[in-house]
Amino acid sequence: MSCQNCFRQQTHRRTTVLQLSTNEVYFFKELREAGVLEDVNGNRLNTSHGVILVTCADGDQMGDIFTLQSGMTDRIHTLALNGGGLLLPLNSPANTIVAIAASGRFIRVGDVYMDQIKAGMTLKVIKTVALHVHFPCGIAQLYNIPPLRLIDLLVQAKTRIKDECANIKVAAYVHIAWPDCRKRTYFISRDKWSAYCNSLLVAA
Ligand SMILES: [Zn+2]
Repeated sequence: MSCQNCFRQQTHRRTTVLQLSTNEVYFFKELREAGVLEDVNGNRLNTSHGVILVTCADGDQMGDIFTLQSGMTDRIHTLALNGGGLLLPLNSPANTIVAIAASGRFIRVGDVYMDQIKAGMTLKVIKTVALHVHFPCGIAQLYNIPPLRLIDLLVQAKTRIKDECANIKVAAYVHIAWPDCRKRTYFISRDKWSAYCNSLLVAA
């Protein structure tokens, strides 16, 4: 499954680049066939005032993600943390506690990220968020987040942003680094994801 060019690149960089397993490739191909992973159509997102880009900072994938967004707008307010959208859902294992408030309330990394998103919207007067996760992702691996959970957390992250920010447009994307070296970003609609999950329940 792995590509010789990828292997040479990884050896040259002396880094460990994660690879999709056979089962993970199968799962994402199934999502493609089910219409859950859609080709990106820039028209879905009103980027006329720019976008807040929420993405993992992964140095091996971030360039590809940024290039895609650059094709939609040249006004990109980037908020990149390890894990990107995986940090936002309240029940995400990657949304770890970073401090305890004087009130005793736990402050999580997702709360800090949400504050940064809101600040970016205010500072730049941007009402559009391009919300990304990617796979394979080191944070997903660290917290044992498989692909199905990854997409579910992406959808939950979108819901959180929309719940906490009035009149915000959020487009959710997953970036996949396929074993044959192709890098692709796909749009995820909440409705199609829900329909897919419901079909799994019916089949069970
Ligand atoms: Zn990552």
